Amino acid sequence: MNRDKSRRAAVAAGQVLVGGVNSPVRSFAAVGGEPLCLGRGQGAYVEDIDGNRYLDYVCSYGATLLGHAPAAVVECVAQVARDGLTFGAPTVRETQLAEKIQTALPAMQKLRFVNSGTEACMTALRLARAYTGRNKIIKCRGCYHGHADLLLVQAGSGALTHGVASSAGVPAAVVQDTLLVPYNDSAALAQVLAQHEGEVAALIIEPIVGNCGFIRPRDGYLAAVQELCSQHGALLIGDEVMTGFRVAWGGVQTLTGVIPDLTVLGKVIGGGLPLAALGGREDIMQMLAPCGPVYQAGTLSGNPLAVACGLKTLEILERTRPYAQLGALTQRLTRGATMLAQEYGVPLTADAEGGMFGLFFTPARVYDSGQAQASDQHLFRRFFHAMLARGVNFSPSPFEAGFISTAHQETDIDSTLQRFELFLQTLAETQ
Ligand SMILES: *Cc1c(COP(=O)(O)O)cnc(C)c1O
Repeated sequence: MNRDKSRRAAVAAGQVLVGGVNSPVRSFAAVGGEPLCLGRGQGAYVEDIDGNRYLDYVCSYGATLLGHAPAAVVECVAQVARDGLTFGAPTVRETQLAEKIQTALPAMQKLRFVNSGTEACMTALRLARAYTGRNKIIKCRGCYHGHADLLLVQAGSGALTHGVASSAGVPAAVVQDTLLVPYNDSAALAQVLAQHEGEVAALIIEPIVGNCGFIRPRDGYLAAVQELCSQHGALLIGDEVMTGFRVAWGGVQTLTGVIPDLTVLGKVIGGGLPLAALGGREDIMQMLAPCGPVYQAGTLSGNPLAVACGLKTLEILERTRPYAQLGALTQRLTRGATMLAQEYGVPLTADAEGGMFGLFFTPARVYDSGQAQASDQHLFRRFFHAMLARGVNFSPSPFEAGFISTAHQETDIDSTLQRFELFLQTLAETQ
C-alpha cells in the first residue's frame, strides 16, 4: 500500500499546523507513524489521497451515522447553502430541529444550540452552578466532556493517550472545585457527595463511556447515581454527545429510563457539521440569557447549514430507525473478534451498543479507566497498523471507541473479522 502522498501531506501540514493536525488524537501519536490524509469518503469507506480505500470505523469519531456523503443530506445542505450561509438571526429549521430532538428526548424541555460538545458541556455546568448556587462539580475519571478548563482533569482519550492528567495552562484555582470519582463506583460517589455536603452543583457523566474506550455502566449504576444526586441536591448532567442518536433513537436515557436534569448532545445531531445542544428541565434552562442571568452566546450557533444537515439526518433516522440493525452489526463484530481472539489465545474483551463499540486487549471486562489503561497498548498498536495495512481504519488510540454507520454491511464486518484473523495468525507466528 503506497502512502507517499499522505506522507508528503503530513510533512507540509507540520510546517503550518501544530503537530500537523487540528485535534491531537488524529496525529497517530498513540500508535506511531504518519496519519492518513483523506481525500473523500463514500458510505462505509474513506479514501486517502494516494487512492487507497479503507473500511472506516472512525466515522469522524462518531459524528457520521448515515455513512460518508449521504446523498439526501448533501443535497439538502447544498440547497440551503444557496439561500445564505449564516444570518445571525432565527430561522425556521432551528425550531424544527429542536422539536425533532424533543420527540426523541422529551426530558429536553428547553434547548439551546451551540457549535461544539465542549461549549455545550461548559454551559451546562455554568447553568448548574448558577441554579444550585454551589461551586463544586463531579466528573468521572476517564470521561471526556470537552476541553473547557474546569473539565481538564483526567479527561479520557486524548489526555490519557498523551499521559497528561490535566493540561498545562489550567490554573489550580480553576479546577479546585472539580472533584473526581471512578466510573461505575456509586459507593465512591456517595462518599464524595457526603464529604462535600451542600457544595456540589452537579455530576456530569457519559452514561456509556466512549472516550476511554467503550465502557458500559454496571447494572443499576446510573440509577444509583441519579438517586445520590437527588438526595444531595446536585444536578445530574447526562453527556450524550457521543451516545445521543447513536445507541438508540434518543440516547442512553431512553434505554435505561434514568433521565438527567440536563442533557448534552453533539456529534450525530449535526450530521457531520458543527452542531451541539444542551437542554433539560425548563426551570433550569430558563436561567440562560436572554431569559435569565447565565450568559452564553455564539455567532454561528444554530447556523442554517449545520441545522439543515442535522435536521435531515434526524428525519432519516426517525423514519428508518436503524438501531436494531446497527446493534446486530456491532455485536457481530465484537462477538466475532472475541471468539477469534480466544481461539488464538489473545486476551481481548469487546462490547457494543447500537452503532458504537470498543475493544481492549485485556482478559476481563473493563469497568473503569484504571482497567482500561492496564490493557495491552503495545498490542493495540500492532493491531491498529496491521488492520490499516489491510484497509481497515480504526481510531488511532486504544482509548477511543469504534463506530459504524448505516452504510456498513454484514460483508464489511465479516471481511474485518477475516483480516483480524490474519493479524492473529502473524501474531502467533512471531511469538
Ligand atoms: C466528543 C465529545 C465531547 C466534545 O465535543 P466536541 O464537539 O469535540 O467539543 C464532549 N463529550 C463527549 C461525551 C464527547 O464524546
